[in-house]
Amino acid sequence: MIGIDIGGTSIKGLAVDENGVILGQSRTATDASQGKDHIVEKVRETIRVLLDQHPDAEAIGIGTAGRVNTITGQVVYATANLPGWQGFNIKDWVESEFRLPTAVDNDANTALLGEQWQGAGKDLSDIVMLTLGTGVGGANMIGGELVRGADWNGGEWGHVVLIPGGHPCNCGRQGCIEQYLSGTALVRLASEAAEHAYSSGQEVLAEFQRGNLRIVEVMERYVFHLALVLHNLHIGINPQSIVLGGGLIHAKELWWDSLMEQFKDMRAPEVDVRPALLGNQAGAIGAAKLAFSMMRV
Ligand SMILES: [Zn+2]
Repeated sequence: MIGIDIGGTSIKGLAVDENGVILGQSRTATDASQGKDHIVEKVRETIRVLLDQHPDAEAIGIGTAGRVNTITGQVVYATANLPGWQGFNIKDWVESEFRLPTAVDNDANTALLGEQWQGAGKDLSDIVMLTLGTGVGGANMIGGELVRGADWNGGEWGHVVLIPGGHPCNCGRQGCIEQYLSGTALVRLASEAAEHAYSSGQEVLAEFQRGNLRIVEVMERYVFHLALVLHNLHIGINPQSIVLGGGLIHAKELWWDSLMEQFKDMRAPEVDVRPALLGNQAGAIGAAKLAFSMMRV
């Protein structure tokens, strides 16, 4: 199977066998601001490279940013980060272009599928996943099935309000989780607190390690908010595990212990939270799994 993960800055493609073994890969940098035709061309190149290497592939799975109607394969909502993407029927286009059955889903959903198949959620059927990256992605799985919701935005935990009247969000509301728990938010909060313009999450975390007291305070609040969100997810969904992915997980040794301390303070030590294991390949691996599931039906 071919699994493709379409993001704002790159397109990742994998050829994956039925046991989850990666047989080949292709990655293309993209500039989403150039619009739909540019992204489509890069997706075409990525799939073509993989199909040339693996002409026996039976189907294609695709994970993409935006909300996806998984029945029709159409992107029903996408932010301005992917101009022209909203309304585009990816399934129709890929099927007519490559003559292979194609399944499409939201990228957070495919990342969760990947982690459940080959990563941190192996053998579990009830999982919530959060990715702490440029934004905050989320997905829910109950009884082994993704819960996509009536309007295809189930699992959009990033836009649940955490701080009423808080920082404005690109969704039009204020105080969303994404504005406090994404890597982008961490850089903003640290820059405000230290009155210094940090350029990346790594830079903020390096300053945290050096013991900069203002940044220590920012990280304490960050971890408190994260613990609160995870506790609420645990109470509301009661998954077997919450899997955390995204860039901030690479430096988890700096803050994981204090997250566990927060759970104790909240009298919520039973929250099972695990780091994701597949890194930035989760989405493409899960997209391949999506294709396998489609072919089995
Ligand atoms: Zn929002």
